[in-house]
Amino acid sequence: MDRLVILGGGESGVGTAILGKQKGFEVFVSDKGDIKENYKKVLEHFEIEWESGEHTEAKILNADLVMKSPGIPDTVPLVKKLVEKGVPVISEIEFASKYTDANLIGITGSNGKTTTTMLTHHLLKDDGVNVGMAGNIGDSYAKMVAEQDFDHYVLEISSFQLDGIVDFKPHIAVITNITPDHLDRYDDKFENYIASKFRIAMNQDENDYLIYDADDEVIQEWLKNHPVQSKLIPFSVKRKLEEGAWLENKTIKIKLEHKTLEMSEDILALKGQHNVKNTMAASMAAMLVKVRKETIRQSIQSFQGVPHRLENVLKINHVEYINDSKATNVNATYYALDGIKKPIVWIVGGVDKGNDYSELMPLVREKVKAIICLGVDNSKLIDAFGNVIDLMVETYSMEEAVKVAYKVAERGDAVLLSPACASFDLFKNYEDRGDQFKNAIKNL
Ligand code: ADP
Repeated sequence: MDRLVILGGGESGVGTAILGKQKGFEVFVSDKGDIKENYKKVLEHFEIEWESGEHTEAKILNADLVMKSPGIPDTVPLVKKLVEKGVPVISEIEFASKYTDANLIGITGSNGKTTTTMLTHHLLKDDGVNVGMAGNIGDSYAKMVAEQDFDHYVLEISSFQLDGIVDFKPHIAVITNITPDHLDRYDDKFENYIASKFRIAMNQDENDYLIYDADDEVIQEWLKNHPVQSKLIPFSVKRKLEEGAWLENKTIKIKLEHKTLEMSEDILALKGQHNVKNTMAASMAAMLVKVRKETIRQSIQSFQGVPHRLENVLKINHVEYINDSKATNVNATYYALDGIKKPIVWIVGGVDKGNDYSELMPLVREKVKAIICLGVDNSKLIDAFGNVIDLMVETYSMEEAVKVAYKVAERGDAVLLSPACASFDLFKNYEDRGDQFKNAIKNL
């Protein structure tokens, strides 16, 4: 019996353990931190051996196959030892995909993955397609493969998941965009991160599709120098294309394998130019699995968006409060500042992943009337914007930040939480940060 060792007892680890056990592996789950109570119960229910609080090397180095949770870097000594011994170290999507014949739609990119994944799933489901949604989102993909029988999967895929693939081959791949992120895991080399994203297409052939943002210079440049086998399906909000999706007179136009679709930009429930792009990508993925045009048009109008992504919270005294807590990098915040057409009181800060704020400067000068810093260390923000914005305030809790914003904002303004930073200095995660923001507003 082959021994499958799983490093990390979270959602993807436990899901992989369930699938591994079902497929006849001898499974062992090891987590150096804590395993949540509910996951421990699941492991016990399936009679899967586990340990938490340590990695016992003797029980790990004898593995035939290792599934590593995406949170664990390749550089940790244990992973290095496994690789040196020649033990394959793979990710959940690699493992689970071996056990399904479903049509796979894989969505990656620096920003917009979750929105595009949820929208694509919504379009397929509304057309009656038997489709599951997994990956970085919601329930474990491996667990779904073990317990359900979907014909299609829409998978949100991070670069860390892609680093652990060997044969994974989505029939339809989407790269929403590529901007610097997570460089700490890529030797601080943007090239390595780009290469990681493009792994989504590495096993595709000429019958598969790669949908991508043709306005993204990083993607265009990479494709010039690293051709892929897949059929290339571009989208653009800047220029007309021969095939793919583009914008003309505020209308989204799609031409794809002799099919066409037109939708006015105004019908989109999701606002902002980035969501026009996400809609183009999702609609083309849906057209490729033969979702009807009418369904696409209707579903696009009913899709309510995703919490913590430019989410309208409340309007108080004619001031709009917008929760964009999921903006954990500069590019996501760029789209928030760009999309809001009002003077902005901007709540920003947290754990900076090597941010360069200069690309925000024109938007900040034009629209931002006050900056409320919310982080343990705000010095970089103050250095970047201190000379540009008259009113900068440092705060140390969400409640305080929202109270200051409430005081500063005037009729017609927007208060925007779009931190451009990770959340773990003051919050559990970005959801906690967004929830605290919403609660603080409701308590005003
Ligand atoms: P991801 O799953 O890739 O982190 P999300 O859909 O959760 O992406 O969105 C993350 C942040 O990026 C949000 O602030 C959102 O408003 C912004 N965003 C969404 N789509 C795009 C896009 N296509 N380009 C740039 N920013 C985007």
